[in-house]
Amino acid sequence: MDFQLSDDQKNLQETARRYAREELMGLAEDIERSGDPPSPEIVKRYAEMGFLGVNVPSEYGGLGLGNLEALLLLEEFAQISSAVAFPIFESCVGPVRAVERFAGEELKRRVVPAVCRGELQVAVSMSEPQAGTALTDLKTRATAKGDRIVLNGTKRWCSGGGHADGYVVYCRMSDEPGAKGIGAVYVERDTKGVSFGAPEQLMGFRGIPSSDIYFDDAAVPAENVVVPAGGFRKLMEAFDLERCGNATMALAQASGALADVTDYVQEREQFGKPIVDFQAVQLKLAEMRMQVDAARLLIHRAVCNAQSGLPSIAESSIAKCYANEIARQVTGNAVQLMGGYGYSKEYPMERRLRDAWGWGIAGGAIDIQKVNIAGAMVGRRFDQRK
Ligand SMILES: Cc1cc2nc3c(=O)[nH]c(=O)nc-3n(C[C@H](O)[C@H](O)[C@H](O)COP(=O)(O)OP(=O)(O)OC[C@H]3O[C@@H](n4cnc5c(N)ncnc54)[C@H](O)[C@@H]3O)c2cc1C
Repeated sequence: MDFQLSDDQKNLQETARRYAREELMGLAEDIERSGDPPSPEIVKRYAEMGFLGVNVPSEYGGLGLGNLEALLLLEEFAQISSAVAFPIFESCVGPVRAVERFAGEELKRRVVPAVCRGELQVAVSMSEPQAGTALTDLKTRATAKGDRIVLNGTKRWCSGGGHADGYVVYCRMSDEPGAKGIGAVYVERDTKGVSFGAPEQLMGFRGIPSSDIYFDDAAVPAENVVVPAGGFRKLMEAFDLERCGNATMALAQASGALADVTDYVQEREQFGKPIVDFQAVQLKLAEMRMQVDAARLLIHRAVCNAQSGLPSIAESSIAKCYANEIARQVTGNAVQLMGGYGYSKEYPMERRLRDAWGWGIAGGAIDIQKVNIAGAMVGRRFDQRK
């Protein structure tokens, strides 16, 4: 077992770090003020720099690297902010990967290379007003009519809602109850019959627009089916990778906070000496460092055990759950160690705390990850309805 990155991986990480720190700090502040996501020009620039879809096979426009490389890059961007990292997240671990794995060739060729070129952003729309953790209760219906699929229903909490160009919409595609009737369809934003709710006002995640989506007899070509009814298990397998991306977004809030606060405690003086000289501060720093390292190792284990494939539900759930929990603690401690400055919007620290909280709800709340983990430990899925 080797815990060192290869020279190529270190170079990729260093390139991303330099770009993110030199080019994106000011942008992250602007986004926080305006709430607007990164502009199309910025996303195009990411593509030109080779940052989009690094783990997508080269025949679909990616760099064909592994999942670890994608997450190394993602952490560097997400340390600056969740919003500037979101296009990387979507292209490397987002729903476009379900399109690439499961859709027909025409849809793959239409969507995946355009995402890697920075011309298209794709969001995932699973949750509904009455179907959050109980996702298999979702009601949005997709009915085949000739060579069209017609969607009706309401979706909630879609990150990218109203902004993304395309949506992988989980929907009911047969009369079979529960998971068995669920599939997914790719829907373009401008499709007739698709409309969006008002932008959500969230605690964090500024610059990642979120909204309801309404489908009112919205018709798309039959080729837009990503997986038919019965494909829920496949969608969840692809989601095992997204879970590692979520974990990395959370980790980055913590690792970014730790880097900044380590500088801060050496500069800030009280009682005539740097506050790092107080043992209570030293103990906090050490605890934060252990948490960050452990979260990163768990994430890297999950993806290294499936470099070009999909991580297991157990390892991805452990990584997400732990990273989500420590991100809240580490960013909270970093705010505290910066005193009044930590609580001020002048510094990125309070934003990291707000974003860290969100990653522990998005993509499946923390406690349901624990249910997944316990299920994997005893070799069965716990039915939440019985
Ligand atoms: C920032 C953010 C971004 C999001 N982005 C997207 C997106 O892009 N696309 C999308 O489709 N959805 C998205 N979501 C929705 C997200 O997936 C759901 O919020 C999440 O699955 C929880 O569902 P819920 O909000 O309905 O909470 P509920 O399901 O009502 O759960 C509330 C709480 O109850 C507890 N709970 C419920 N059931 C169980 C159980 N069986 N065992 C243990 N505890 C349980 C948990 O503590 C949970 O936190 C996003 C949410 C947030 C906050």
